[in-house]
Amino acid sequence: MASAIRIGDLLKSRGFLDDRQLHIALIQQKVTGDMLGDTLIDLSFVSSAELAQSLAEQFNLEYIDVNNYVITEDALRAIPKELAEKIGFIPLDIEDGMLSIGVTNPSNVLAIDTVTKMTKQAPKVFIVDAEGFRDSLEKAYFFLRNPIRERMDSLINEIKTADTASGAAVTALADLIITDGIRKNATDVHVNPTASVVHIFYRVDGVLQFGHCIPKAAHAGIVSRIKILSQLDIAEQRLPQDGSFRFTVLNKTYDIRVSTVPTVYGEDVVMRLLAGSASLLRIDKLGFDKVNTGRIKMLFQKSNGIILITGPTGSGKTTTLYAALREIDLLERNVITVEDPVEYKLSLIKQTQVNEKVGYDFSLAGRNFMRQDPDVMLLGEIRDEDTAKIAIRASITGHLVLSTLHTNDAVTAIPRLLDLNVDRFLMSSALLAIMAQRLIRKICKYCKKEYTLTEQEAAVFREEGLTVASAFKGQGCLKCNGTGYAGRSVVGEILIVDDDIREMIYSGASIIALKADAVKKGMLPLHKSALMKAAEGLTTFDEVMRVSG
Ligand SMILES: [Zn+2]
Repeated sequence: MASAIRIGDLLKSRGFLDDRQLHIALIQQKVTGDMLGDTLIDLSFVSSAELAQSLAEQFNLEYIDVNNYVITEDALRAIPKELAEKIGFIPLDIEDGMLSIGVTNPSNVLAIDTVTKMTKQAPKVFIVDAEGFRDSLEKAYFFLRNPIRERMDSLINEIKTADTASGAAVTALADLIITDGIRKNATDVHVNPTASVVHIFYRVDGVLQFGHCIPKAAHAGIVSRIKILSQLDIAEQRLPQDGSFRFTVLNKTYDIRVSTVPTVYGEDVVMRLLAGSASLLRIDKLGFDKVNTGRIKMLFQKSNGIILITGPTGSGKTTTLYAALREIDLLERNVITVEDPVEYKLSLIKQTQVNEKVGYDFSLAGRNFMRQDPDVMLLGEIRDEDTAKIAIRASITGHLVLSTLHTNDAVTAIPRLLDLNVDRFLMSSALLAIMAQRLIRKICKYCKKEYTLTEQEAAVFREEGLTVASAFKGQGCLKCNGTGYAGRSVVGEILIVDDDIREMIYSGASIIALKADAVKKGMLPLHKSALMKAAEGLTTFDEVMRVSG
């Protein structure tokens, strides 16, 4: 790692760190003996990715997000794992004999020398972040040595040829179904029985993908295995049930929420994989428009009021909440959260997790937080009248409140709160801003191609006042598993509640009037913002229509 002073200076020059934060990190470092970079990450002053990006720029190298990079098998086979681990690099790709490698330390000369000796060619060097490096190295070699497809095929064969599916085979199969979801970075795993077989689907980047086809004989066993893990009643097959369990793969534990529903072909199971889904970003890196991002950043400095983030499940609201918390001066303000669940641990913040079984929910937490001398309260979600009222009350009694709501756009949050019996006057005085968002898939940069829009497509752009003749699409390649997409970005709108809008809320203006006024004041609506991202080539027209059409 580059020397400690240089990292501090580098991050300061890029605006990621201030003197007070560096001072605290240096003190903590003396206590723990950790490296400065690791200490800064531990304190959540910078993320592992931000540190790597800064290093990459400093050393004129390219940074890649190794978590979302498809590492090729021939690259892995070219370098033994133990060697890669010892010298501190990860093989990524091999093209015409030239190996691409990822390093966390830009001055890792040994890695370059080693690869040059082994492949008779100097490698192409990329910077990767330390967290991603550790995870990807383990994951890539593990799945190289334990190919899921082969193990699954042999288990399916065993089940097909036996009279009754053996318990051990079915258990192994159930575990493989989950493990494959983790390998694919899926958020949900679906076990769908049909009349003759069982289909396994995975939701990856917001879209379902077909995974496996399994003999019907294994269905009951797989469902039982999942039900036992999540302590559900295996005898009850006529009613829906829900539960959860923890599943460990490669030293990483995943919280998995389970929901079962009886269908005509037997029980359908959906598992939601929770760990590692949130990432630490900054608000201006999320994908909202620049002007409104600048305005909302100032609102995070307010001492009282409420800022809401809205969107459907899986729209990245948690990532935005964490980005918002990073705008708050954690050295001067006491922040306390209640989340369901805690998806990313931030130092200097008191994070708590909902526990319905013992009655610890958002409203109980909200009430008790008042005695914890808070400046900022984060209530993971406003689901009911109680929580809504507590959030509003806290925000008008000298606290900044951050929370989320399930609505499709920013203005709809207003009638939604009224539905929860929030007082119109209190709400209009408390609301500072509402952000609404979706996640859109980004076009794979390796197979991106420009094409001419059809008249119909161009008309959709014109409706939003955009003159666009061509857009982009991914053709599908090895790097993106043939999907044409890689990674996701936030697209959204930011409604700033100024005095006019406050007055309109108070006097009961319609949401159409509110929206029109907000747009006049500079709100860039979600759909238009998404179309602009398609025009720029970040995403496709189809993807825009899927998330905001
Ligand atoms: Zn591609």
